[in-house]
Amino acid sequence: MDHMTHTFQIDGAEIMARIEALAEISETPTGLTRRYLTEEHRRANNLVAGWMRDSGMQVREDAVGNIIGRYEGNPPGASAVMVGSHLDTVVSAGKYDGALGVLTAISCVQALCDRGIRLPFAIEVIGFADEEGVRFSSTFLGSRAVAGTFDRSILDRRDAEGISMAEAMHRFGLDPELIGEAARRRDEVLGYLEVHIEQGPVLENESLPVGTVTTITGACRLEVIIEGIAGHAGTVPMSLRCDALATAGECVLAIEALAKGFGQTVATVGQLSVEPGAINVIPGRVRFTVDIRAATDEARNQMLAAVHERVEEIVHQRRAASTIEVSHDANNVACTPSLMEAIDRAIEANGWRALRLPSGAGHDGSAMASITDIGMIFVRCKDGVSHNPDERITHEDAAVGANVLLHVLRHFKDHNALSHT
Ligand SMILES: [Zn+2]
Repeated sequence: MDHMTHTFQIDGAEIMARIEALAEISETPTGLTRRYLTEEHRRANNLVAGWMRDSGMQVREDAVGNIIGRYEGNPPGASAVMVGSHLDTVVSAGKYDGALGVLTAISCVQALCDRGIRLPFAIEVIGFADEEGVRFSSTFLGSRAVAGTFDRSILDRRDAEGISMAEAMHRFGLDPELIGEAARRRDEVLGYLEVHIEQGPVLENESLPVGTVTTITGACRLEVIIEGIAGHAGTVPMSLRCDALATAGECVLAIEALAKGFGQTVATVGQLSVEPGAINVIPGRVRFTVDIRAATDEARNQMLAAVHERVEEIVHQRRAASTIEVSHDANNVACTPSLMEAIDRAIEANGWRALRLPSGAGHDGSAMASITDIGMIFVRCKDGVSHNPDERITHEDAAVGANVLLHVLRHFKDHNALSHT
């Protein structure tokens, strides 16, 4: 396209140094933990805001606590390409999940600003306040507020200390009544781009630093309650028992076997609680969760129906009772084909083979897709490990991710104009 593409390279060192600085802000002394509306959220927003300002952006915090830096285009006041990721973490997280996407975006703007380059549109870098949903069991809280799909019932949810989200917002200096103001209009946003660690082993196996995401997986979550009959562990004969935990155990293994038989479908029982939970009492009641994800919505729905049927069968055979409630059900979200092509071309322009891969994890893009086009760039991570302090990437790969993003941004208008002719 132009000679600048070759001479205009972002070095990963600054991104990595900022990732280290951000990782210092943790609720826990060991293992990174940074949840929504905490003191650490405030400090992370302040630190990131400073980097945004240093890169020529005007910074504001929106009504839900997202931090947003705007780099004006030419002409000023134009619609924006939004670029970012989340600044919150799970408990005992890695340093790169979320942070990498915000910091690569800031480095792209800095590269433009340092050279006095204005694009024909604005760039808004966003650090979403809550993607992981650890504190209030929410999903994509920050990006849903931006997309205008925030569920107000979450305001009444309480954290482990009994503080409601509405109260926590007040303490943080936000007004829950104003959350609607975080929503953006479709015509203000040209697209949403995100760089994120892969959180899986595909790129590493392919020896590639980056890849183009095709779809962001949806998920179906169930809460299953098995009712048996509690009784004395010494006096009730085996033949007369209705053991809720033994029934649940059979269900867990059956769900695993079903998922293995389905292909490109995964199912996980991640929580299980036993009542009354005593060493000498036959379990009377068990609650467990199931998380189901699949390559297609159809496959996920088939798996859901199969789980329902099999659990009911097992419960019936053991003369127990069950209730199955769907607590969350979100469809897969496809990335925008024209943006996938733009990312492929950017990867090739950086000297790498373009590889497409789906995301098995959820991301803010799935919420943003309801108002705009989305594109995602995955960066290789060591052994596919994430949500773990052992999460690792190399500074060379961070640089490739940033340079691919910069290329997509610098050619965005070309691609956009082409896609509308
Ligand atoms: Zn993430």
